[in-house]
This record gives sequence, structure tokens and C-alpha cells, in this order.
Amino acid sequence: MANDNNFVNQIADIEKDFPQWYTDVVLKTKLVDYGPVKGTMVIRPYGYAIWENIQRELDRRFKETGHENAYFPLLIPMSFLSKEKEHVEGFAPEVAVVTHAGGEELAEPLVVRPTSETIFGNMYSKWIQSYRDLPVLMNQWANVMRWEKTTRPFLRTSEFLWQEGHTAHATEEEALEETIKMLNVYKEFAENCLAIPVITGKKTEKEKFAGAVATFGMEAMMHDGKSLQAGTSHYLGQNFAKAFDIKFLDKDGALKYAYTSSWGVSTRLIGALIMAHGDQRGLALPPVVAPVQVVIVPIAAKKAGVMEKCAEVKSQLEAAGIRVKLDDTDNSPGWKFNEWEMKGVPLRIELGPRDIEGGKALIFRRDRLEKAEYSLGDIVSAVKELLAVVQKDMLEAARKRRDRRIVYANDMAGILAGVEGGNFVKAGWCGCRECEDKIKAETAATARVYAEGESAETCAVCGKKAQHMVIFARAY
Ligand code: ZN
Repeated sequence: MANDNNFVNQIADIEKDFPQWYTDVVLKTKLVDYGPVKGTMVIRPYGYAIWENIQRELDRRFKETGHENAYFPLLIPMSFLSKEKEHVEGFAPEVAVVTHAGGEELAEPLVVRPTSETIFGNMYSKWIQSYRDLPVLMNQWANVMRWEKTTRPFLRTSEFLWQEGHTAHATEEEALEETIKMLNVYKEFAENCLAIPVITGKKTEKEKFAGAVATFGMEAMMHDGKSLQAGTSHYLGQNFAKAFDIKFLDKDGALKYAYTSSWGVSTRLIGALIMAHGDQRGLALPPVVAPVQVVIVPIAAKKAGVMEKCAEVKSQLEAAGIRVKLDDTDNSPGWKFNEWEMKGVPLRIELGPRDIEGGKALIFRRDRLEKAEYSLGDIVSAVKELLAVVQKDMLEAARKRRDRRIVYANDMAGILAGVEGGNFVKAGWCGCRECEDKIKAETAATARVYAEGESAETCAVCGKKAQHMVIFARAY
């Protein structure tokens, strides 16, 4: 196509300079802008609309699995953080602390929440007295702050939006079951809504959440072969229950500590969408979360009847619950094609005098860059069907791209060659921290998750007996 040359040149080459491509895309598509305070981001309406769609889909799933939303305070007493030893060690380097308010120095400094296990724990100790009060299944949609030295929009910013689920249970089995259940909710959501295939599994001790007994992660492969941790679910055992005195009187009359879990996903998921599906033309959004699912571009808009027909098609699609935009600006059709392709709109309807006369319309698919003719008579059902097909095809295409880039390695040279080539690398690991650190030092890859259902003979580093088959990758 001739009309896209100018536009393509404005985005850095995706293969040659992926970081610059990412920056160009997030800024030019108006998803985000930099905030005045270093490391902060402004999520602009087009980006926020994606987040709202993510929220709607996830929130429904949380409620279907029995969870309720609540809202807890942004400020947490500094002393809360210190109650769980690993937790404070993990988060202390990146917390922002409020020392002054109302013109006075505070008696106790307050932490701007980096996560809310401590304040949930504090309140749960008040609310939970008996086995009848359990389980407690709560979620909050909130912002959190983690002071970061190097930042990138959506991927790592000092403030970001997320949801955090916090649950308390009478038994270990129940709390573990909840942890895995929510990991699976995330996986189903990632695949069916974001069209991103993910690998879920347990994390190593080194990579687990500070204060957890076990962390389970969901990892997605980005365009450059690096991994993005797209969500985590933590089994906290009785660590936080003991730190915050969450006790209940059980059926047998004994006083016991509860078992807790926590799980979260954030605006990072928007970064995942950009980097998993994007191409040289810009974003490619899956229909379920796309702010605009269909754009209508009039051809020869000034010719009699064209705008009227376009408006009519728009109303029909809107009535069917489809998010549709009619681009009635005076830009040229070619300019509009480029603009909406860059913004990743899944379908484009092109409608001109000849199409209208013939009772047809052209529909362009952003994911495959293909155009086909459809009858105007049943344009609504055609669009509905196409949106479903695009959603499914995008997941399958992403799965194929990922699966051909998962390789095995038996030694350090193999791990290095694998990650250098933009792959996820499966390798045996003995379970010792020394070998894990050595892999990081020599290849810049980290242990993402254990490869579920797979075992290995020997450790790729020391040659001793392997405890796990691990997926190693460079990560965001
Ligand atoms: Zn080893």
C-alpha cells in the first residue's frame, strides 16, 4: 500500500530499535504522556479506555468467583511495614514516606502504599474472630507507589494502577486453592481478552514476593523475546496472619491463625498488549479490550449520500453494542487509514459511492492487514463475526510466535545463545541460589517460572541433579 509510507517513518524500526519503537507508539497513539514528576505517567483517554475495558472484564470474573470490592487508605503507618521481616526488606528501598502534614512533622511517618497486605492484615485481625467469619474474599482497585530509578510508561513507573485481591481462610488447603484459582482466572483473562498466551507456574525463592510462602506468576513473551511478568498470585501461609494477629476460634474450639493469599495485575498489562501484538504500523488491539472496535472511513465523503450511509451503518453497529467511530474529519482517507491502523483499531469499514451503489462495503482487518468485501445488508452480523474471528486469530498468532521461540539448553552456553536469540529457554536447575545468580550474571536472564509438568536430569550450571525444569528469559 502506498499511502502508509509517511506514517511508518514516524515510528522507529521495530526490529532494529524496539525500545524506541515502544516509546514512539505509546506517545504517538496518545495512550500516555510523561508526568511532571520524573517516573510518573499520565494515562490519556485512549489508554485509560483500555484500562477500563480490562477492569470491566476482570471485575466480572472476580465477582463470579465470590469476591467483593472494598477500598483501603493510601497511607499506611510505617510500623506496619516492619511487622513482616521479609516484606519490609523487600519494599523498604522503594517506598515513598510522608514525614510532614498539616505543617507539622508527624509523630509516626506514613508510607504511601507499595502494596496493601499490611493494612488488610491489620483490619482483618479486627474483623475475623470465628470460623464463621471465613473465608474473607476481598479485592480493591487502587493506585500504588514504588519509587523506581529507571522507568518506562506502563512497564515501570513510580505510581501505577492495579487491583489487589486479599483473602483469608481457615485452612492451608483452602488458601492454596484460592491462590491457584486466581492464577487461572488471570490466565483465562489474558488469553481470551488480551489474546496473549501466558505461561503460569511457581516462582523460585529468589523471585517470590517479599513475605510470601510461594509466588505463582504468569509470564508473557513480548515481540523481542523478552518476558513480561503479567500477573502474580501469592500464597502467604500464616506469615501475615502471625504478623498482624489474624486469629479465629475454630469449630474444634481452638484459637488458630488464618491462612492468607494476595494476587494482583496492573496497568503493566497495557504494556503487554503493546509489545505482544504491535508491529511496524503501531498498535494492534484485540477487540475485547479495544476502545474503538470498528472505525468507519468515508471515501469521497462529499459525494451525495456517503456521509448519510456511514452514519446509518454507525447507528446499526452501535445498536448492536459495538464500539464504533465514524471518522468524519477532513483528513484524506489515506491519512485516516494510517492513523487508525497505528491506533490498533481491529476493523475498518471503507464506504464510498461505488460501494453504496453496489450494496457493499470493504472491511479491513488490522491483525492480518487484509481487506474483503461484505454485503451492506448484513453488515452488523458480518462485523460481529469478524470481531470474534480476529480475537481468536490474534491469540493463535501470538501463540505460534511464542511457541517457536521456546528452546531447551543443557549448559550455560546454551542458555546464553537461547536468550541472545530472543527465546525463552528451558533448562534444568539444581535449586541452589548460586547457580541461579550465575545464570543472571552471565546471561542477564532470570528464572521466570518452573515449567509445569516437566522435569530435567541435571542442572545446566553445576551438572548436579536437577530439582526443576525452569523457564529462563530476559525480562521487563
Ligand atoms: Zn546447579
